[in-house]
Amino acid sequence: MAKTIIIGAGLAGLSAGYHAEQRHLEYELYEADAVVGGCCRSVERDGFRFDYSGHLLHLKDPYFQGLVKELLADNLNVLNRNAVIYSHGALTRYPFQANLFGLPPEVVKECLLEFVKAYHGNEDLPTREYRTFRDWIAAKLGEGIGRHFMFPYNEKLWTVPAEEMTCEWLSEYVPKPNLEDVFNGAFEDQSKGFGYNASFWYPRRGGIQALCDALAARVPNIELNRSVSEIDLAARKVRFSGGQNASFTRLVSTMPLNTLVEKLTGPVPAEVRIAGARLRHNSVLIVNLGVKGGDLTDKHWIYLPERKFTAYRVGVYSNFSDALAPADTTSYYVEIGYQQGWNVDRDALVQKAVEEMVEIGLIRSLDDILVREVVELACAYVIYDRQHGESRKIIMDFLEQHDIVSIGRYGNWEYSGMEEALLQGKNSLC
Ligand SMILES: Cc1cc2nc3c(=O)[nH]c(=O)nc-3n(C[C@H](O)[C@H](O)[C@H](O)COP(=O)(O)OP(=O)(O)OC[C@H]3O[C@@H](n4cnc5c(N)ncnc54)[C@H](O)[C@@H]3O)c2cc1C
Repeated sequence: MAKTIIIGAGLAGLSAGYHAEQRHLEYELYEADAVVGGCCRSVERDGFRFDYSGHLLHLKDPYFQGLVKELLADNLNVLNRNAVIYSHGALTRYPFQANLFGLPPEVVKECLLEFVKAYHGNEDLPTREYRTFRDWIAAKLGEGIGRHFMFPYNEKLWTVPAEEMTCEWLSEYVPKPNLEDVFNGAFEDQSKGFGYNASFWYPRRGGIQALCDALAARVPNIELNRSVSEIDLAARKVRFSGGQNASFTRLVSTMPLNTLVEKLTGPVPAEVRIAGARLRHNSVLIVNLGVKGGDLTDKHWIYLPERKFTAYRVGVYSNFSDALAPADTTSYYVEIGYQQGWNVDRDALVQKAVEEMVEIGLIRSLDDILVREVVELACAYVIYDRQHGESRKIIMDFLEQHDIVSIGRYGNWEYSGMEEALLQGKNSLC
């Protein structure tokens, strides 16, 4: 009988396992870690429950809405986004481009003028036809909004300038307000919700791990602490670090695509190896903090576009759910983008970002910090440079010839969220 091996018990792998189970397929799921969840894990520290930075559910597909409701049952909250931008010492609503109200008048004027110029000179090409992300920002939002938010914020997050990136990933992720919205938002505090994440779901208890655990409970064939070290194409076997192996007829991998290529042995063309080595990504340091004081902020997350601040975003777990932090405390995640190759002192970077939390007003004093923990996501955001599309295609075409399907945020080498991981897991089985 055909046997599917699934590598990884993040949401994509768990979804593949769940749907294999539903369809009575023969499968085995192997996870390198001691727990399921991948990027969607949560950890408990001295009464605080932290995710590996905030993981909020934005589900569009009724099937996955139904599945998540069934899995979490009464453990689900629906929240309306309360996200802001901290810039020029002011807090303005997200997205920046539609909410200039509250910024210094000269900044508002500059952004509006440049937006109107861009609006009128706009070639109005479909998004994908802009050569670079920078060209798209300049044409669709104007240089002013670019200078004061889009260029510095995105550079801090992606760790490369917008001119190095294409627009393949943009789709719904970057809101594109019309002229009326931009003017309304420049002269009044408008509350219109823009973009894909105006409202979101989040577990009441247990952090985002609650979703992974509920899904894993329906996937009996998971083996933890099983790290795949080699994929032998000729023998159709995966080998584990401990020396054991398992045969497959179909392989569903959710490990990062560049790592997958490195683990292939057998007849692998040089162009596939080269394509694998060309895939680029950033890394993110997440500083999880539990601090004294329950009245510090009512926001869900705060963007920090200014280059003088180390982090690009701060989120507030305890505002997603009271159950994530003890009474009279607040819990935060502070996100810092960087490249492994940069010669930076990570401890110094973290310390600076934490001190800036006091400057921004999110912590009263460094002495109020009760818990501080740093998590490193070595592969966090895939970089859409000009080689991304072609390199990815070369690898995917090759894998298909060997009945290997590579899925999920890192398997498919893309910018995507939890819903896409669930969907790709469902679609990965033949
Ligand atoms: C900072 C950040 C914030 C995010 N916020 C959101 C959000 O708010 N909303 C949202 O929808 N999405 C968010 N995402 C995206 C979301 O985390 C991912 O889309 C999703 O978790 C990807 O799941 P996955 O299964 O594809 O990958 P992963 O979660 O990476 O799972 C892959 C699994 O494979 C295992 N593995 C790797 N190599 C091996 C091996 N050799 N052998 C065995 N097992 C192996 C890993 O241990 C891991 O468990 C965020 C991502 C990041 C980085």
